[in-house]
Amino acid sequence: IGPEISDSIELKFSSLARKMNAEGRQIVSFGLGEPDFPTPEQIVQAATQAMQNGHTRYSSPFGIAELRERIASKLTTENQLDAQPDNIIVTPGAKMALSLALGSLLQPGDELIILTPCYPSYIPQAKIAEPACKVQTLDLLQDGFAIDFDELKRLINPRTKAVLLNFPNNPTGRMLSAGDIESLAGLASEQDFWIISDEIYEKLNFSEARHHSPGGHLALAGRTITINGFSKAFSMTGWRIGYLHVPDRTLLGLMSKLQQHLNTNTATFIQHAACAAFSVPTDFLEAYNTRLNNNFQFLDEMVSQNERFRLSASQGGLFAFLDISGLDVSSDQFASQLLSETNVAATPGVVFGDNWDDHLRVSMAIEEKHFADGVERLDGFVKGL
Ligand code: PLP
Repeated sequence: IGPEISDSIELKFSSLARKMNAEGRQIVSFGLGEPDFPTPEQIVQAATQAMQNGHTRYSSPFGIAELRERIASKLTTENQLDAQPDNIIVTPGAKMALSLALGSLLQPGDELIILTPCYPSYIPQAKIAEPACKVQTLDLLQDGFAIDFDELKRLINPRTKAVLLNFPNNPTGRMLSAGDIESLAGLASEQDFWIISDEIYEKLNFSEARHHSPGGHLALAGRTITINGFSKAFSMTGWRIGYLHVPDRTLLGLMSKLQQHLNTNTATFIQHAACAAFSVPTDFLEAYNTRLNNNFQFLDEMVSQNERFRLSASQGGLFAFLDISGLDVSSDQFASQLLSETNVAATPGVVFGDNWDDHLRVSMAIEEKHFADGVERLDGFVKGL
């Protein structure tokens, strides 16, 4: 790969926070895209049991039948997809599902549209999949982070192979509305393109808004690759397990080849453990979403009393995306100073796109007490500037 592919800033950042904690600095980390509580016990037990039962060998590259059946049934009942187990591939994390999708779709000269601010791995992944593809970025609207459909329509052309979406969104917390899905369906009736829908934060929803899957809309079902996983919803970031649903058999075959040659399969006992995620009691996610909501409300309350910040409502996912344009400082400089002077780690907006250098991403996936402490330090720091 070429020098334009830089290190994953998020991974660099998490090792830095771990190192500082090991050195005894009491870091409040708003930086990590992962919950700070353990995986539900029944999933851990299912993994142990699977290892003891000898599920330690290769599996089918597509994944074990039991898990693919459960995923198909989830996608059918919860997301209104017409999902068959045969159209599902289990992958080592949603990240690898994304990589299979991009690797199977992109050809030299193709264009890929990505909405920014975005997950920092999207552009490097597209470039790794097809160095000769053109990545077109489209900024979400500054106020409220909605999609500018007029601009999207303007960008889509016969070379557009796919539009990559991520809702609930990292880093803005925005969700896709039913109206958004209709607008996408309208665009798809005029031009032929794929939708790659990364729904990894689906279960993290602390607003009144309902999650909508493009693959569940009749006009989009045949052209949508749906990506999801277990990392965020079940606090399983280190387990490395995700999946995709693809309605097209040719693409499925190409993805299967990539999987065969890159991964062989996702760790077999982890796949067995993931089956247990489907029976985790709903109070696990309820408590998780309550915490996210409490943390968001706390941050929002602080922002309402400090005119140097602005904040659009987060509806789902793990993050709030704070507008710091009132401070007249680059996001990188602000985040570095915040860390060195107050021990609060947050992610600079510029990591999510060049035009977002006046924002700061705050992860809300930490215990309320620590979160409130971090918000107070952030507030005090800005007042002292
Ligand atoms: N997609 C988005 C938008 C993410 O934020 C992340 C992780 O931060 C991933 C995918 C990767 O998920 P996984 O850990 O399942 O590979």
